[in-house]
Formats: sequence, C-alpha cells, structure tokens
Amino acid sequence: MSHSELLCFCGSGKKYFQCHTKFEGMQEPSDRDLHNVDQYVPQERVCYAPDFLRKCNGKIIRSHTIQKKGSLSFIADNGHVIGVKFGDKYNNHIRFDKIGINKASTFYGFCQHHDKAIFKPIEDVDFIASPMQCFLMCFRALCFELYKSRGAVINNDYRDLCCRGQHYREQLTIHENVRRYNAETKSKIHDLEILKRWMDSSISKGVIPKNFAFTVIEYNEQSPFHVSAVISPEYDFEGRQLLELSDLSSFSDRVMISTIPLERKKGCMVLGWNSSFCGASESFVNSFVDQTKLLGFDVLLQSSIILAENIYLNPSWWESLGSHRDVLNDMLEHNIQDYGLNSLKDIQSSGLFDSTEFRFQSFGGG
Ligand SMILES: [Zn+2]
Ligand SMILES: [Zn+2]
Repeated sequence: MSHSELLCFCGSGKKYFQCHTKFEGMQEPSDRDLHNVDQYVPQERVCYAPDFLRKCNGKIIRSHTIQKKGSLSFIADNGHVIGVKFGDKYNNHIRFDKIGINKASTFYGFCQHHDKAIFKPIEDVDFIASPMQCFLMCFRALCFELYKSRGAVINNDYRDLCCRGQHYREQLTIHENVRRYNAETKSKIHDLEILKRWMDSSISKGVIPKNFAFTVIEYNEQSPFHVSAVISPEYDFEGRQLLELSDLSSFSDRVMISTIPLERKKGCMVLGWNSSFCGASESFVNSFVDQTKLLGFDVLLQSSIILAENIYLNPSWWESLGSHRDVLNDMLEHNIQDYGLNSLKDIQSSGLFDSTEFRFQSFGGG
C-alpha cells in the first residue's frame, strides 16, 4: 500500500493524502521563521504561589530567578551580564553573549503581592544561608524550571511549520521527534509538579518542609557567575550512574541549585533536594562536594554550564578569558544538546581561578 493510503502519522484519523500531504507542496520555513518560536509559545502569565495562598494582587510581574539587586548587579557591567543566547546571529549555535540585566533570568511567574510576600526572607534581609532562606532559593529555582518546561512543549502549529516543504519520510521523522521530545518534557513537568506540591504545602505556614535537605558551599571570594536551575542527578562526578531516566512514567529525583552573594565579598551555592526520594540527589551532592574539594571553583562553574542554561557571567571577567571562551562555549553547546550525557567526570582544572577557601554546611538528609 502506498503511504498516501496509510493513516496519517499525526493521529487525526484521516489518511495521509487527505491530511499532512498538503505540507509537501508548501514553501520550506526560513531559519527566521523557525527561530521565531515565541509566537507559537505564548508566555504563560500566572502566579506560582500555592493554591491556598491565591489572593493575588497586582499584575503578574517579571520576577528575577536570580536576584537582581544582590546577585546580578554584582556581576553586571554597565547594566549588562553575559547569558546564554541562540539564533541566526550565532549561526544557530548556542553561545554566551551580552544581555541586559533587566531581561536576564526573568519569568512571569508571580503577582506583585506574592513575589514580595513569599520571598521577603531573601529579598529584605542579608543572606546568611538559614534553612528558610535556602528553601526559598530552591522554591524559586523550581518555579522557574516548571514555567520554562511548560513553555517548552512543542505545539502542533510549530510542528506543522517544520513539516512545510517536506516529503512523507521527513515529515514522519519530524512527528516522531516532536512526540518523543514532548513526552520527555511532559515527564519532566510531572516531576517538577510533584516537587512543587511538596514545597507549596510549607510556603504558607512559613516552615521548612519535612525531608528538605540542603548543602551550602561557601567560598571566600565574589563569584564571576550566578546560576539558578533544577537539575537531574543522572550521573555523579566519577561517572557513576545514579538514575535511570529511560522510564518516563516514573518520578525521577531533582536537585535545585542557586548561587547568591554573602556579606563581605563572599558567596555561596545552595544545593537543595527532597531526602525522602531515591537517594540519587544526596549521592550527587556528596560527589559535588568531594569534587569541589579537589578542583575548587572549576567544579562550580563547569558543572553549572553543563547542567543549567540559566547561568550569567560577569562581562569583564568573560572578556579576560581570551581563547578560553571557546572552551566554555563548546561546553555549553555540547552539553545542552546532549543533555544527560555523562560529562561531569570530564571536568578539569582550567587555571582560571586562584585557590579559594571553601566551607561546607549541610542540613537534613540521610
Ligand atoms: Zn495529519
Ligand atoms: Zn499571586
């Protein structure tokens, strides 16, 4: 039977010749069309405050996932930081480049009222890495990751845009790829929603949830970068596999990571997780700490580049790196595209950092 007579791969129930065959004759989309993703993914504007707090007030504002006042402004030069960019200008590579501080690391995730009320303990007072402060840093990282993942599901309009001008075979491949990608993204959203419900229940009471564990890595200098992300602890720094991600139906563990300055030119990275799950997060964080003791700041920077897209660097520091910028750009591109690859074990000393004193502090956990 010719493929025209087969049921269309899109699941419409029609035969191919009555359905997606029409895309064969259309003009292929330009690179510009393909990168203009925003019009296909309307930016969601809802308040991520827990349901039982829902007395929203004021409009949904652009909140910073990485504090603007404390963190981003410390690494900004003339109102700019270096962030992750993609598109025509970079020949479709993923690259570090300048971005305005007001646009950096923001999302429409809280109403004016809740943005202020929930994050008061980290916005209005100095950060001393108290359990509540660390918990709120993690909560904000989680809300952003959830927001971003919901916006990353590919809708049918965008899929069909990619199908234009393609023959049956190519269209079939596009549909299969989109289906697999969406299944992975939805599984991630499901996991993040489970974590959010667990954290939500403590937000209104102003307490730390049961089973919240965290480790703070404190350093004696100002960091040239800041990061906020939720990562999947698939492999540790010695290449040991901690999680099996192929089963999309089962929950998989996550670690929430953020950096923030501390008083007197010091800073810290907070790694938080739920200690009642499978233990992968705790093993991952222990491995993170061990490797930091060995290689210092390189571990913090390189693992953030490998695992997180929501990372911002100081522009003059970035300029000072010279040819080492290529190494970091490659690391960024390679690892975002091959997400989940076991590359943490390849982290090496770069010579970019002087030796720094670290202090480690843990709370909760096994
Ligand atoms: Zn179809
Ligand atoms: Zn609200």
